Amino acid sequence: MTDGISTNQATSEARGIRGTMATHRISPWVDGRPTPGRSGRTAPVYNPATGQRAADVDLASGDEVNDAVAGAVAASKDWRHASLSARAAVLFAFRDLLHERTDELAAVITAEHGKVLSDAAGEIARGLENVEFATGLPQLLKGGFSEQAATGVDVYSIRQPLGVVAGITPFNFPVMVPLWMCASAIACGNAFILKPSEKDPSASMFLAQMWKDAGLPDGVFTVVQGDKEAVDALLTHPDIAAVSFVGSTPIAKYIYETGTAHGKRVQALGGAKNHALVLPDADVEMAADAVVSAAYGSAGERCMALSVAVAVGDVADPLVDAIAARLPKLTIGDGTHPDSDMGPLITAAHRDRVAGYIGAGEQQGATLVVDGRREDVPAEGFFLGTTLLDHVTPEMTVYTDEIFGPVLSVVRVETYDEGLALINSNPYANGTAIFTRDGGAARAFQFDVEVGMVGINVPIPVPVAYYSFGGWKNSLFGDTHMYGPEGMSFYTRGKVVTSRWPDPATSSVDLGFPRTR
Ligand code: NAD
Repeated sequence: MTDGISTNQATSEARGIRGTMATHRISPWVDGRPTPGRSGRTAPVYNPATGQRAADVDLASGDEVNDAVAGAVAASKDWRHASLSARAAVLFAFRDLLHERTDELAAVITAEHGKVLSDAAGEIARGLENVEFATGLPQLLKGGFSEQAATGVDVYSIRQPLGVVAGITPFNFPVMVPLWMCASAIACGNAFILKPSEKDPSASMFLAQMWKDAGLPDGVFTVVQGDKEAVDALLTHPDIAAVSFVGSTPIAKYIYETGTAHGKRVQALGGAKNHALVLPDADVEMAADAVVSAAYGSAGERCMALSVAVAVGDVADPLVDAIAARLPKLTIGDGTHPDSDMGPLITAAHRDRVAGYIGAGEQQGATLVVDGRREDVPAEGFFLGTTLLDHVTPEMTVYTDEIFGPVLSVVRVETYDEGLALINSNPYANGTAIFTRDGGAARAFQFDVEVGMVGINVPIPVPVAYYSFGGWKNSLFGDTHMYGPEGMSFYTRGKVVTSRWPDPATSSVDLGFPRTR
């Protein structure tokens, strides 16, 4: 329909996606509008399902970042004065728009990330929870009050915004992860600058347009498109008060070290190697369903994907059989097709890297039960089938490295203690899950496992929005987990006021240190 096409084009142009679909260019979003990049540098953006270059994204220079920060600084000065109810009204409107435009936004995600549409909608739904949480900001930002801390003296605490804060996000959740950050940051009265992944940047522009449509003042939500140059400009900019990062461990460590060295508050979430511990008493069919969903969903490109199944005792054979039986039933194809269960990987280079791990695993002695390289997957695009490796041991690279693809390793152990020790000795500690019918064993696991997020017969224990998300060890640099109560704390700083109103009866000169009794 001609009308539909022109409407889509108009919407695209309003979002800074210029030109025809074959050649369009994705811009930054500054001062409430798409602002074409000036650096002359761009990066290609692909449709991973076809392998075709679909767009180019502008890569910001340091000067462009400085301009964007200046706009955000100006906007933050007004936004911190907005009443709590005015801020909440914007968040409620934004929530409604996310609901209304979920299908459209899911299509934007799938076109550049490749995940199936239902998974893209699921990511939006989980991000929406963070927006809903943040609508409770009047309650969440309440301080404390102590009347008569000393005679005629009251003491109270308030939480104030930081000013301008930045979020640097990965390719694998182009909507959910930005929402983990910006919903709380904006609710707390900050201006927020997003630096999305250059691999799938269009969703950031869609979010920017929705914030504007929800009534957020220009400059409170800014998008800087770019790569390391833009990130470094943000990390060293004196007007950026805090940085939230989600991505791979080496970059998370770099962000934490560079940001804190420049006086910023930083929370930097890194990579993962998540284990499922399957005990001999587990419901094998349920565990296999859960492990297959969590290992291969979104082609394994989830930081909470289960990439290792630790099979305890004689559950190993039936578990491997049950997982292997499920894999041929998965349909691998274009994420826009309703019958696809799993889409492509993000780039050709990443697909080849993941395939390399399969070969390495085989060479290092693992048993290749299902080989993703030989499955019947679409020839075009960055597809790879599902791989199941058995008899994996801890020194193999398929075990030591985060693969971030549709590869599941099974490690066989004799006892629960051996499985627990294996998990606790891993340098990553994002998520884990135990599968058992034994409540005592599950509780002991929850108590002893050294991992930030734990599932009990739940394969992907991403906390609901009113808790906070974060791993331990090399999966998180910094002290604060993301979103939820810790997010509200991260994006504000506390102030304590001690007050006394004029009262001649209690007024006197006293050169001693103030005492309360
Ligand atoms: P990545 O680390 O390559 O990129 C993340 C962000 O950092 C992007 O915006 C990118 O532009 C930027 N960046 C990349 N290289 C940089 C450099 N040298 N200097 C400065 N900035 C740089 O991660 P990715 O490939 O986009 O995402 C996948 C990774 O993210 C996986 O390791 C996954 O486990 C992790 N992840 C973790 C969580 C979590 O909550 N812990 C959630 C999602 C993804």
